[in-house]
Amino acid sequence: IRTLGILGGGQLGRMISVAASRLGLRCHIYEPGAAPAGDVAWRVTTAPYEDEAALRAFAASVDVITYEFENVPTSALDLLESLAPIRPNRRALAVSQDRLTEKAFLNQIGLATAPFADVPDAGALDAAIAEIGRPSILKTRRMGYDGKGQVRIGDGPADWTGAPSVLEGFIDFSAEISVIVARGADGQVAAFDPGLNVHRDGILRTTTVPCGLAGAVTTDAVLIAARIVTALDYVGVMGVELFVTPQGLIVNEIAPRVHNSGHWTQAGCAVDQFEQHVRAVAGLPLGDGRRHADVVMENLIGADMDRVPELLAQPRTQVHLYGKGAARPGRKMGHVNRITG
Ligand code: ATP
Ligand code: MG
Ligand code: MG
Repeated sequence: IRTLGILGGGQLGRMISVAASRLGLRCHIYEPGAAPAGDVAWRVTTAPYEDEAALRAFAASVDVITYEFENVPTSALDLLESLAPIRPNRRALAVSQDRLTEKAFLNQIGLATAPFADVPDAGALDAAIAEIGRPSILKTRRMGYDGKGQVRIGDGPADWTGAPSVLEGFIDFSAEISVIVARGADGQVAAFDPGLNVHRDGILRTTTVPCGLAGAVTTDAVLIAARIVTALDYVGVMGVELFVTPQGLIVNEIAPRVHNSGHWTQAGCAVDQFEQHVRAVAGLPLGDGRRHADVVMENLIGADMDRVPELLAQPRTQVHLYGKGAARPGRKMGHVNRITG
């Protein structure tokens, strides 16, 4: 494999490109909007997912297609799939594009999720609340990220999300963790150590490793992640978000791609999640994901960018900036990995 195609030119696509170029590969990025990854890729196509000619030219120039963003329209995927292999596979995309499908799949393979109900329209909300109870969280089935498309339902009247949704029972978790897991083309599975995640306003703020939880919990988390990638015949890196509860682990959601909560691996492992993903989708052997340092990853969101000069001066700190331009509130602009032990 010489050329990797990446759907999506955001920071994840950018970091995949950097890892791929270290392995002697080159990347062609396809991005409908602005592509911060453009500065590190071999080629960039800026065209909508409806542009059939652009999709064909993209596919013709690459050996394998991967993605940093799971919400690529089905029609584009159908065309691309007829022209080049897509890894991770279409089933992983279909399952994770839709929260309802995703939860049903997880339950089917024996994993616990929050209790949930389908809420196709506003008229179905009252019945769903009667079934699931309060407090609960209404989430759009598709397209949500960073807490967007979500409505918390407390005691008062409930707002509608504006799109087909799922209602989830509120989980009183003691912690949130995630496992970044990789599965190679040969079926080999490797997981990074689970990280402890702290969110603010629905956006990931920090990931800490080690996560400080008992070995029985972290082992269970890794086994859950391995079960998911195996069930999907998955090739690539996946992020699995979990809630820790007294009743055991509950899967919150899965992301069929490299994941923000895996950025710590850049400072904590010989082979980070981006290289691991490239290795998997390129059919290379998986690398050693053992952790050699304690790390705290902190996202730089919006005005956090003002702290960059000071962060650059801190010892044992990696600063990653995405080259995105305007630092709007809530926008992920970069992250730092602090080596803490
Ligand atoms: P991401 O950016 O991780 O893709 P998202 O928009 O898909 O986020 P979720 O991960 O579903 O959103 O939810 C965001 C956060 O809201 C979770 O990390 C968790 O803190 C909280 N949350 C979500 N669902 C529940 C739940 N059922 N019970 C309690 N808290 C929840
Ligand atoms: Mg999500
Ligand atoms: Mg999430």
